[in-house]
Amino acid sequence: MTPHPPDRPRTALVVMAHPDDAEFACGATVAGWAAEGWQITLVVCTDGGSGGPDEATDVTPETRRQLSATRKAEQLASAAVLGISEVIFLDYPDGQLESTLELRRELVRQMRRTRAYRLICQSPDRVWTPSYALGRYHPDHLAVAAATLAAVYPAAQNAWDFPELLAEGYAPSRVREIYVVSAPHLNYAVDISTTIEQKLAALRCHVSQLGHDQSALAERIRQWAVERGEPFGLPLAESYHRVEN
Ligand SMILES: [Zn+2]
Repeated sequence: MTPHPPDRPRTALVVMAHPDDAEFACGATVAGWAAEGWQITLVVCTDGGSGGPDEATDVTPETRRQLSATRKAEQLASAAVLGISEVIFLDYPDGQLESTLELRRELVRQMRRTRAYRLICQSPDRVWTPSYALGRYHPDHLAVAAATLAAVYPAAQNAWDFPELLAEGYAPSRVREIYVVSAPHLNYAVDISTTIEQKLAALRCHVSQLGHDQSALAERIRQWAVERGEPFGLPLAESYHRVEN
């Protein structure tokens, strides 16, 4: 692993499509990094306004707005549990995210603004295995993943891409470590033995999505953590495809 250069702040950016995605994917990792002194910024790309029950009959602009407000409040509470210092909501309509140049520019702006050294993002690839169910590959996840990786290279580090950002004062900044969750090939794991409780506590903030009684979910999360850790000889883990840039 490349040693961390002394002139770079310990900043990490987590880019996810929806409120609660980060908690499921990497909540315990982020809590560990925050405890080590990393400044974590979470970017949530959609407004979360479609995260209601499949069978709902009262879907109106107003109920979507209310749901979005609830989910943002849950996200802020959960971020505090994990030690995330900043949450940015990009407010794209939930369920309609596309990997556009506009989204890429916004993500480049956040990468440059925070001078992110580490980045966690979703995977642009589907994995068809039983434990990686269809729901994990929400079209918003695939879109934000494609936009994020396109933003990392080359635009975040290249002055010639989005020169308007340069004019806004956002100098090129190179993301050095990329952690892709739910990727087809997982080559890196983080031991979450001491932070899994924080992950579960963070998930308990997302009542609108997960309800009040999350005991069954907590069991599933522990089981996943055991499965993720096994190939790496760790008791409990979150795993990634990790790549250096
Ligand atoms: Zn999601």
